[in-house]
Amino acid sequence: MLPTDGHVHSEWSWDAPLGSMERTCARAVEIGLPAVAFTEHVDHTVWSAVEDNLDDHPHLKALRTPALTITPPRLDVDGYLECVQRCRDRFPGLRIITGIEVGEPHWHPEAVAAVLAAGQFDRVLGSLHCMPLDDGFAEPPGQFRQHAPADVVRNYLAELPRLIAGSDVFGVLAHIDYVARYWPDEEGPFDPHAFEDEFRVALRALADSGRVLEVNTRRSPRPELVRWWREEGGDAVSFGSDAHLPERLAQNFTEAVAMVEAHGFRAGRHPYDRWIR
Ligand SMILES: [Zn+2]
Ligand SMILES: [Zn+2]
Repeated sequence: MLPTDGHVHSEWSWDAPLGSMERTCARAVEIGLPAVAFTEHVDHTVWSAVEDNLDDHPHLKALRTPALTITPPRLDVDGYLECVQRCRDRFPGLRIITGIEVGEPHWHPEAVAAVLAAGQFDRVLGSLHCMPLDDGFAEPPGQFRQHAPADVVRNYLAELPRLIAGSDVFGVLAHIDYVARYWPDEEGPFDPHAFEDEFRVALRALADSGRVLEVNTRRSPRPELVRWWREEGGDAVSFGSDAHLPERLAQNFTEAVAMVEAHGFRAGRHPYDRWIR
């Protein structure tokens, strides 16, 4: 049986205008997924976008100011939770888990606490999307424009232990290699081994805090991250497709499950549990 997809976005996420909770649930039933967690974005970092980033993401164009500053819209907690209830009624055989994906939670503790107080969220993912740039913040594409690629990755990975130490609201660290999604093509393929020490420091901090590493399957998952996670003391993993469209639900899960099993992790007692060693 496939594991839970623990990282999915629907139309309630500000960057998923083509998402659909209902169609994602229908897709989950179709492919035999036992459970899905709708972890909608909760972002408070105001960031500057670069023009070519906007070309890839038309939804951002509507949000920018003349200075290309993006202020992520708030999550409509009540609307989201009502939609979850409608889907639970409509798909009784599917376990639907509530959740949020919180960007840079260590920089916005009060705003994050207010969201968590507004609803029942079963699963909270912690994410690092933005990093300081000039006098503001930027996602990796803006970082790679101004800094040497290796420096961008090292800065990103160095921030992760601060995020982990600075916030206890999340149980799962999402996409630890998020920065690598934007690694410049002209540099050749991203090689995690070039940053093994930095990855290990972040993984150890996460393991020491007793939290869970997400195996993000938006791209083909990286076996070395799971190996290093285990070696640094990590006990549990979750799987997350980071789907922003129903058809991307659980993508690459078969490959990810085989890889994670090969590294000694096994399903928990229930299909919606995290996997443990
Ligand atoms: Zn994310
Ligand atoms: Zn996400």
